[in-house]
Amino acid sequence: QASPATAIGAADTYPTNHEQIKLPGNTPYFLDNKFVDSKTETWIDLYDPATNNLVTRVPQSTNEELNAAVESAKKAFPAWKATSLLHKQQIMFKFVALIRQHWDRLAASITLEQGKTFADAKGDVLRGLQVAETACGITTQLTGEVLEVAKDMETRNYREPIGVVAAICPFNFPAMIPLWSIPIATITGNTLILKPSERDPGAAMILAELAREAGYPDGVINIVHGSAKTVDFIIDEPAIKAISFVGSNKAGEYIFSRGSAKGKRVQANLGAKNHAAVLPDANKNQALNAIAGAAFGAAGQRCMALSALVMVGGTKDWLPEIAERAKELNVNGGFEEGADLGPLISPQARERIESIITSAEEEGATILLDGRGYKPEKYPHGNWIGPTVIANVKPHMKCYTEEIFGPVLVCLNVDTMDDAIDMINANEYGNGVAIFTRSGSSAARFQKDIEAGQVGINVPIPVPLPMFSFTGNKKSVAGGGANTFYGKSGLNFYTQTKTVTSLWRSEDAVAAKANPDQLA
Ligand code: NAD
Repeated sequence: QASPATAIGAADTYPTNHEQIKLPGNTPYFLDNKFVDSKTETWIDLYDPATNNLVTRVPQSTNEELNAAVESAKKAFPAWKATSLLHKQQIMFKFVALIRQHWDRLAASITLEQGKTFADAKGDVLRGLQVAETACGITTQLTGEVLEVAKDMETRNYREPIGVVAAICPFNFPAMIPLWSIPIATITGNTLILKPSERDPGAAMILAELAREAGYPDGVINIVHGSAKTVDFIIDEPAIKAISFVGSNKAGEYIFSRGSAKGKRVQANLGAKNHAAVLPDANKNQALNAIAGAAFGAAGQRCMALSALVMVGGTKDWLPEIAERAKELNVNGGFEEGADLGPLISPQARERIESIITSAEEEGATILLDGRGYKPEKYPHGNWIGPTVIANVKPHMKCYTEEIFGPVLVCLNVDTMDDAIDMINANEYGNGVAIFTRSGSSAARFQKDIEAGQVGINVPIPVPLPMFSFTGNKKSVAGGGANTFYGKSGLNFYTQTKTVTSLWRSEDAVAAKANPDQLA
């Protein structure tokens, strides 16, 4: 009788509907375009955050499996590098079409494993899909520069792939973040080893299946699994030339420093504390709706979630209305119709966030809306916290200094926009920020003086589309933000520039014309 794991292997497609396999199946790894059952003895149980039912078991890839992924990627590299750009572009067109075709399947996997609502999960796929769509324009994006630098002498540059590269992904965007790497790393000619989050690898597995169907050759994309052990392998393996990391500061700072010390390129997007400054001249209704969506959507588990509200002057009187809006949000299983936000990723995340809310209370803040203890009727065993609004927060409080990563909005009061700018700039994170105002000149000054990588003006979550780059700042990005994801910077990250200076003497052409035999 086939084990659930073999059932996955036998079908050789990655099932999203885990009921298809009756018992929870093991997540396979992906090597040379095949789903393979791991031989590991160490498994990581993955639970549905809405029910805490076991969904699948994720292997901690063995050393043998990790080495096999590297060998496969190394072997695939020369031919993939030599594959014409037009052919790679055709594969990308197909990949894009297949992601669209399998959009719901990808989103369902995300809702099941990560918990976010189905609508949010579709957005997760969309934001990654847009990176793949933009990568289809590679034929114009990869052109080099050329200049005649002296008589008959020309300097031109080429962007060449680096070789085998790796991506290490977080749990909160299981499709978007793998897709920050897959299209750009591969269309530039690299071969990629991807480690999805061990907490929700399903979407990455479906993407692997779609990549194969799109025509990626064996070994161009391999998927390995696990946690810190796999990450250490990636850092230490000399054949892996570059690492893309998105996740927490704790892991990212370690990966950046150790990876850089080994001479690798590392791009690393880290944690955040994103502020919204609300000026008294803001369009109140628009601002409040935007803030409620951006603070609590996806249960606050977005690196660009607006988690700190800086209320300037009289806008502190709007606080009860914010709490009202937050209270109206429907917290429920992600597949339920009308759900605005789903559960947290794990019981540990729930406990950690509850303890931060408690610490705020102890430090003298006011819990205006308390989501602790909330449970939707149908899902009593999930990792729930309802929207929580904490008022009278001071910058020294733990709820302000720590990234909460949950549906919790901390609210601080200041007198002027200058005070707001000072407070926001004093925060060590610098991912995103938003200002709500009807004044163009206030917005212009805020935009100029604020130290955050991504600024929204009446836009709550200003995540740049992929023709730009994701430009975090300060502690929200490692290495001072030199290697940001996607856009021109993403192309630079995944390519090595080669600059060629050549001298073709015009005198030789004249000589050749006069006496072709002499040239030899
Ligand atoms: P995480 O750091 O726990 O995990 C990210 C990856 O690192 C995972 O693949 C995990 O296996 C690995 N990892 C975890 N601990 C490790 C360790 N000690 N050593 C080596 N590897 C380790 O992050 P997460 O909880 O999955 O994601 C949430 C975090 O990611 C938040 O801080 C959020 O702000 C951040 N994030 C940032 C961005 C951005 O673009 N700035 C985007 C999404 C998420």
